Amino acid sequence: MSRPLSDQERRKQISIRGIVGAENVAELKRGFNRHLHFTLVKDRNVATPRDYYQALAHAVRDHLVGRWLRTQQYYYEKDPKRIYYLSLEFYMGRTLQNTMINLGLQNACDEAIYQLGLDMEELEEIEEDAGLGNGGLGRLAACFLDSMATLGLAAYGYGIRYEYGIFNQKIRDGWQVEEADDWLRHGNPWEKARPEYMLPVHFYGRVEHTAAGAKWVDTQVVLALPYDTPVPGYMNNTVNTMRLWSARAPNDFNLRDFNVGDYIQAVLDRNLAENISRVLYPNDNGWLKTAEQPLSSGHCRDVLGVFQAARMGCPRVPHVSPLPSPQVAIQLNDTHPAMAIPELMRIFVDIEKLPWNKAWDITKQTFAYTNHTVLPEALERWPVDLVEKLLPRHLQIIYEINQRHLDHIASLFPNDVDRLRRMSLIEEGGTKRINMAHLCIVGSHAVNGVAKIHSEIVKTQVFKDFAALEPEKFQNKTNGITPRRWLLLCNPGLAELIAEKIGEDYVRDLSQLTKLHEFVDDDLFIREVAKVKQENKVKFALYLEKEYKVKINPSSMFDVHVKRIHEYKRQLMNCLHIVTMYNRKPPRAPRGPAAPGYHMAKMIIKLINTVAQVVNNDPVVGSKLKVIFLENYRVSLAEKVIPATDLSEQISTAGTEASGTGNMKFMLNGALTIGTMDGANVEMAEEAGEENLFIFGMRVEDVTELDREGYNAQEYYNRLPELKQAIDQIKSGFFSPDEPDLFKDVVNMLFHHDRFKVFADYEAYVKCQEKVSELYLNSKAWTKMVIRNIAAAGKFSSDRTIKEYARDIWHVEPSDLKIPPPNEPRDAAEDKTLNGTAA
Ligand SMILES: *Cc1c(COP(=O)(O)O)cnc(C)c1O
Repeated sequence: MSRPLSDQERRKQISIRGIVGAENVAELKRGFNRHLHFTLVKDRNVATPRDYYQALAHAVRDHLVGRWLRTQQYYYEKDPKRIYYLSLEFYMGRTLQNTMINLGLQNACDEAIYQLGLDMEELEEIEEDAGLGNGGLGRLAACFLDSMATLGLAAYGYGIRYEYGIFNQKIRDGWQVEEADDWLRHGNPWEKARPEYMLPVHFYGRVEHTAAGAKWVDTQVVLALPYDTPVPGYMNNTVNTMRLWSARAPNDFNLRDFNVGDYIQAVLDRNLAENISRVLYPNDNGWLKTAEQPLSSGHCRDVLGVFQAARMGCPRVPHVSPLPSPQVAIQLNDTHPAMAIPELMRIFVDIEKLPWNKAWDITKQTFAYTNHTVLPEALERWPVDLVEKLLPRHLQIIYEINQRHLDHIASLFPNDVDRLRRMSLIEEGGTKRINMAHLCIVGSHAVNGVAKIHSEIVKTQVFKDFAALEPEKFQNKTNGITPRRWLLLCNPGLAELIAEKIGEDYVRDLSQLTKLHEFVDDDLFIREVAKVKQENKVKFALYLEKEYKVKINPSSMFDVHVKRIHEYKRQLMNCLHIVTMYNRKPPRAPRGPAAPGYHMAKMIIKLINTVAQVVNNDPVVGSKLKVIFLENYRVSLAEKVIPATDLSEQISTAGTEASGTGNMKFMLNGALTIGTMDGANVEMAEEAGEENLFIFGMRVEDVTELDREGYNAQEYYNRLPELKQAIDQIKSGFFSPDEPDLFKDVVNMLFHHDRFKVFADYEAYVKCQEKVSELYLNSKAWTKMVIRNIAAAGKFSSDRTIKEYARDIWHVEPSDLKIPPPNEPRDAAEDKTLNGTAA
């Protein structure tokens, strides 16, 4: 006799978070107790919650070690092509839960921790985020590591181990205050220092030209100490390595020939060298660029770790045959690690004594460059005089590259002096600078943008001269997000509900979400999707109440705008809409929280907090409209707010947001998007159908047209009474009566130098928000649109993105290595080889 399974029974069959075997649970408890005792030297009488977190982290880590060693043994043995992903940022967030999920240990750990009388969520909350990134670019690198391991690619993340990550943001009286992110204070159970692999990195000095070639001499040495972090793939026994470099002063650094007085000073001076990896620069899409100092330690930092990756290519030079298929691919995450290009050339030419042309062929075949922005202020231009002092040999090599590059162009376009000027790696006029994007394009065999619309702008506008020269070099690789962290980990309710309907394989192959289309009219499924969202909202509302002491109505629409504060992302336009809703009291449908995030950025933050203060304390508005500034936005906060969101704000000026990845996280987690035709929003609309997103405002062509006509903010202000009212209120001190002039710079900017044209899209935005409010009143129609979006989100898995990089740029096959589980013995022949290599 068969009967329908109950909800609970069906859930039990879902194993995407791992199978709970009694042995597994017992082993985890033993590991936990062993580490509490021997690693942390505590017993249950005196252990703190942090001790318990650390004990669990070590117990889980034990399950990584065998797989990590074995994966690396396999790479050594089978010698597949290696992929080095070079990035100055890896925005990893927390590691514990991600590791449990990818190893299939989540359920077993939950049970073990429960049996030990502890609270898993409380322990998870103790882990510090690894905040080694500013935003999208750094988080992309982290998602890519997860996908590369899941696809079985022999990949390495290479970057810098900043002692202090992105600052912690505090809001005091509505103003941003920064606090240092001392993330390593309590130790980091996930990293392993490798002092035995420490390498010297040279700076300064001078170049001697001898008969045997160039010699870089009299340099100052800084040591690069690598720390390895395991990167597990999802349920495939693969564990890759993220290697982050830390700067150390050598023992003879200023310590030679001291007398007693100088000795102390010499020891203190070691900090100078070690400052290189001290702190992540809070610099995203050009913000703070102008505030950045001559930056010699910042540039040292940029070149330090990434040199090491170039060095990985070096021992392989003799094995590179036949060209052009080197056994190493190096992907540059934006231009920040660009110096790896002249560094690899230096190794080939000066040390390996390869002829220039051969060295250049291999270098170009090895490197590929990903462009992340077209905003001119964010395109790096390093001053020549700085590079000349810091890396004199590299500057010579860059000049040589440039000479050959310009000769080539001159041969193709005789007498086109202007073209030579536009395409040079060196910008003359004023301070001489190296155009780092030009260096990357010339030194790579592939250049890609990160969404269709962005790649098109890269090819036809920003680098059109280079595309005319080598059109086949330019590609698109639309960004993606890992469904492990951004669904399984952050939204287990939805992940399991989907698995009940379409099975579990979608976690590895997100395109299978299209199967959900079958259930768009299934009333039970619609109710279940709505219920999961409601539960997530209730949970987030409780979190807000605890952290911010604000009560929000969990049945109101959670309208969320989370991303770094930047003028182009137009948090100001959202703010004007909030003021407009406030002025229209009572609002049509109740709304919940809004946004987190140099002078303008800080003023925008202050403005949002000031408006929030007035709106939230107006008795007429009551609980109908609440504005909450989410302090200290970071990966672990994104994991909480995104699953609880109804409406995702993606409202950048068309042509400015290269891709966005926040937009994809919201789509996958059952939020609807209000957005412009910018970045990956365009492809989200393509996948889901434009009628299933709230698309508004100027397209790229409209922005171009408006630029030609001349954008006149005053005209919109004169024509739109609600815009005029909102601006007048902000300008006259309605929200800041004690300081009526507080926002005069913001208002002045909006009228006279708003490059991102907030007023031009205001009307369309407000009208579109009215449509959103109307649909939200019809809960069933809303949820059906949500389901259509989830079903269409498959394209935005970073697994798909990485497969495209592997096929089109790195020329490697995913998954041709099958790593067996660590407890399964290898066959005897294999064991012999491995014991041999290990010995
Ligand atoms: C995904 C993510 C971002 C990028 O968001 P966008 O909306 O694409 O700018 C920034 N910060 C964090 C913490 C993220 O998780």
